[in-house]
Amino acid sequence: MTNTASQPLFETVAFIGMGLIGSSMARRIKRDGLANKITCAVRSEATRDRVLELGIADEAYCDIKDAVGDADLVMVCAPVGANETIGAQLTGVLKKGAIVSDVGSVKQSVIRDIAPHLDEGVHFVPGHPLAGTEHSGPDSGFPELFEERWCILTPVPGESEDAVAKVKALWEACGMHVECMDADHHDRILGITSHLPHLIAYTIVGTATDLEDALRQEVIKFSATGFRDFTRIAASDPTMWRDVFLNNREAVLEVLGRFQEDLMALQRAIRWGEGDKLFDLFTRTREIRRGIVDAGQYFTNFSAEGEDRKSYEKAKKKPAE
Ligand code: NAP
Repeated sequence: MTNTASQPLFETVAFIGMGLIGSSMARRIKRDGLANKITCAVRSEATRDRVLELGIADEAYCDIKDAVGDADLVMVCAPVGANETIGAQLTGVLKKGAIVSDVGSVKQSVIRDIAPHLDEGVHFVPGHPLAGTEHSGPDSGFPELFEERWCILTPVPGESEDAVAKVKALWEACGMHVECMDADHHDRILGITSHLPHLIAYTIVGTATDLEDALRQEVIKFSATGFRDFTRIAASDPTMWRDVFLNNREAVLEVLGRFQEDLMALQRAIRWGEGDKLFDLFTRTREIRRGIVDAGQYFTNFSAEGEDRKSYEKAKKKPAE
């Protein structure tokens, strides 16, 4: 999907954070002319210099105030644990009518940490693009990351419809499908679809690293039997995921409680040789997989995982094995 508007959607977009998500968005905006100017603020001088080298922003700074003064849209793309500090630096420096949005994987905490710092006349439209890889930093981004994936916006009641529409239009121009929902609903859904699976992956890979040396070597050698898929997820950025779990505590703990109960039920079924129970569950879970393939959400992304795309096309053509 490319920008069908004859004009750029924004004059100046300022990014706070230029890692995987920020730099992918910046690349897309530049590629399709979605804004006339991109500025950014990052934490370290090394990242600032790299962003300029890559040419994905017109101006890059280490001080947030230098980057956001002229912005029509400020996209906060840093780990969610940094939001309180970032929010405090947005007071008194933004243009009237500017929109602040973000990409954080948790939404209630973003509203808690940023909204109180924004001046009257500044709009706030929190968002979360459901797209990513296990890589971090400005080099890891690519403009197709968001293609055909979902973006969830969680505007607070009373927010200007025009501001929400502008952020929606930008994500759509980046190739995404957009849906609005309450922040607490978002956090509950993502607790099960994203946060719990990451926690399980971190646990399994952690368990394997605790094995005695010889066994661990064999786990790595024969990892293609399932373990490898978990290692990809467990290679995700530790800062980002620490912040996600600390900021979506309640939803994660609730879903973890359910998961533990279900795991116990499976443990019991195996102990008592209840094959029917195992078979029924595995049949139902296969259906879920089928639904994901049918909904076009099977592959991680288009360009970084070409092989994945090929197997998606194949899976679409024939029934799940
Ligand atoms: P990333 O690749 O690790 O990049 C993080 C960026 O934030 C870096 O440019 C870093 O600058 C900057 N930063 C960190 N603390 C900062 C601070 N206090 N002030 C200013 N900049 C700061 O992270 P990412 O994967 O793009 O994730 C960014 C956000 O997107 C997170 O909130 C995450 O929850 C969300 N998200 C991630 C994914 C995913 O799959 N990765 C998917 C959807 C949403 P330095 O390099 O200078 O430290």
